[in-house]
Amino acid sequence: MPVARKPRYVDVANPSLSVECPRCGLLTARFIDQCRNCGYKLWPSSEMASAAFKAWRDADPSRKDASRFDLDVPEEPADVTIDYAARAHELGIHLFPNSNYPFIICVGALFLALGAIPFSGTIRVVLAVIGGLIFLYGIVGWVLVEDVRMFPAETPSTHEAPH
Ligand SMILES: [Zn+2]
Repeated sequence: MPVARKPRYVDVANPSLSVECPRCGLLTARFIDQCRNCGYKLWPSSEMASAAFKAWRDADPSRKDASRFDLDVPEEPADVTIDYAARAHELGIHLFPNSNYPFIICVGALFLALGAIPFSGTIRVVLAVIGGLIFLYGIVGWVLVEDVRMFPAETPSTHEAPH
């Protein structure tokens, strides 16, 4: 019977992931077979330490994200969601709105570029006109419509130079 693999002596009620080394007295990971500071053998083998860690971890669902290489059970991750648009507005940084218009601008640029190919004169003019219209539509939509909608009439006080 493989006794060494059985986590017989692990105290799963103890929530600590760290332990004071009996030899050097420094804090070290509880489920690593050797003390990190002095190399003192805490467990007979790494496998046994790992099995003990698994038994300890499975004893409590709040320990599921713990790593046996850490000294502490990880905290619940804080909610770090940031509204960047609101933050930028607060700081007076101009962000361009999320928009599909850049794609339209690129399509316009494509036709403009095709107009640069030396086809016959009429084809080039037609391509340039099509491209120019699509391009301008994209620019106007992005910069003059969506952007203004997102940043309605900024108060002049924010642009006043300090006296
Ligand atoms: Zn030690």
